[in-house]
Amino acid sequence: MAWEGALGLPVRSPRPAERAAAFNRISGTDEVAMELSKKTIRCRGCRALVLDTAGPTHRYVGASPGCWQLYGEVLAREYSNVRFAAVHGLTVDCYAVQHPGTPSPQTIRSVARHLIRLHLVLEREFDPRQATRAMQNAGLKKGDLKWLEPPASPGSTTVLDVRRAADPIEHRDRVLAWSRSVWQAWTPHHATVRRWADS
Ligand SMILES: [Zn+2]
Repeated sequence: MAWEGALGLPVRSPRPAERAAAFNRISGTDEVAMELSKKTIRCRGCRALVLDTAGPTHRYVGASPGCWQLYGEVLAREYSNVRFAAVHGLTVDCYAVQHPGTPSPQTIRSVARHLIRLHLVLEREFDPRQATRAMQNAGLKKGDLKWLEPPASPGSTTVLDVRRAADPIEHRDRVLAWSRSVWQAWTPHHATVRRWADS
């Protein structure tokens, strides 16, 4: 797609081993410990297998603490390098939509805004900045937002897949795959989201 050309990442690095080594230094969670741990649970939002921790989570985003921790690590990686700017918005969109929480004014508005941006980027090929501007204006003034019943399956790709990426290019590709998977999962509500985007 046209907007992928704006990502600013090389198609292939000449020295992938060095690239991966540098990339992994950014990571936080001890992946080996997580693999060995028996204290894992399915996140109540995205169903990813995550550590069963008692850590903090978001006030209304419906994520288990172990998943919220993974998301924090992925965000830290994206904030560490401006080259991730183009996919960062998709990461936020995917995570919000995959963890819709329970009906409330905040969750209704959050899920709607992030679905609108997914629609604009994936179906209308908006670049990330255009999509953010349009999302901020679309569908939110008319008072017709409503709770959309989340799909039975949140999609097969999760923040855990992005967290496991070995280098920046794989990270980008996994965020793109994640966004397509999440948008596909919400197919029953596509017509509503498109209408909101045009309102
Ligand atoms: Zn989750």
